[in-house]
Amino acid sequence: MNNPAQTSAASPASFSSRVQGTLMGGALGDSLGYQVEFDSLEQITAKYGSSMLLDLSQAKGTVHFSDDTQMTLYTLDGLLDVLEWANGGVGADINACQWLAYLRWLKTQGVPAPGHAPEQAPRWIDSQSVLHHQRHPGNACLTGLSTGEMGTAARPVNLDSKGCGTVMRSAPYGLLPNVEAETVYKVSSDAASLTHGHPSARQSSGAFSWLIHQLVIVGLPLRAAAESARDRATAERAADADLLARLELALTLSTHDGKPLAGESLTDALGLGWVAEDALAVALYCVLATERDAVSPVEHFLDALRLAVNHSGDSDSTGAIAGNILGALYGEAALPPSWLKLCEAPQLIRHLGAEFIKLTTGE
Ligand SMILES: [Mg+2]
Repeated sequence: MNNPAQTSAASPASFSSRVQGTLMGGALGDSLGYQVEFDSLEQITAKYGSSMLLDLSQAKGTVHFSDDTQMTLYTLDGLLDVLEWANGGVGADINACQWLAYLRWLKTQGVPAPGHAPEQAPRWIDSQSVLHHQRHPGNACLTGLSTGEMGTAARPVNLDSKGCGTVMRSAPYGLLPNVEAETVYKVSSDAASLTHGHPSARQSSGAFSWLIHQLVIVGLPLRAAAESARDRATAERAADADLLARLELALTLSTHDGKPLAGESLTDALGLGWVAEDALAVALYCVLATERDAVSPVEHFLDALRLAVNHSGDSDSTGAIAGNILGALYGEAALPPSWLKLCEAPQLIRHLGAEFIKLTTGE
């Protein structure tokens, strides 16, 4: 059995490569999935034939990433803000900086910040016109921020919201070096409370960022990192039963012999991905189940992403999360070169990644 995680362990990707790989992998997966975000399996088959959407080169028209990548970059910018303050000797409130970043994101979507929200000077990212397109932003993200209230774990906004808008934007928290995994979990889950109040949104976000941390910072192989995320979710006080069930099933099903679950079988088992725990479970399953057959990081990426987007659910978010995980695992070695040529605004993504690397490592 060929195990690319072992290959990865033999020549581990650098921190810089994993940071850029996580960001760009997510953008590529998002871009592939965005082609079919609102399409049923039947519609995907009608558009792309019986083998469905296999490659970004099949995109109808110009390739775009969606709100998933836009918000992920704003998550990163919130962390850049914190790191800039820290390098100046000031300990800024991380969740407040995230809130401010997401309020600036809200403006990019044509929604004015509420009157009592804090006034902010624009940052570099705010001038990037590609982030001002409306690419189907999530309702809870818009309404939660529009309240003008900074949601917290104790007083979250949108109490019943568990949409995947938390998970899909939360990979950057797991990239923070020199930070305990427990801190990553808390920062990520607290940021979820800014827009989504349901415990599964909060805990799914924390578990996803924990997973990215285990891959990028701790250097665990894929399955060990996934089991670690499951264990952290299980250790939560008042752990969300739906999240635990989904993670356990994703781990178990991915060990089964034979062809991986696909399409309707995949979403029947793990959900359509519209809610947080389903999106995380579908993406994680697709990455785990294709590991055994992959012979290179790029082939693993392609196999996993094809599985992650060809279903009737929230294809861009399941694609984005799967892409984040593979980029965290392999670094830039996972990214198909032909897809990079098609990616929207890769220089913008790389610039923000480079800023993060510079502020965290001095390189
Ligand atoms: Mg989207």
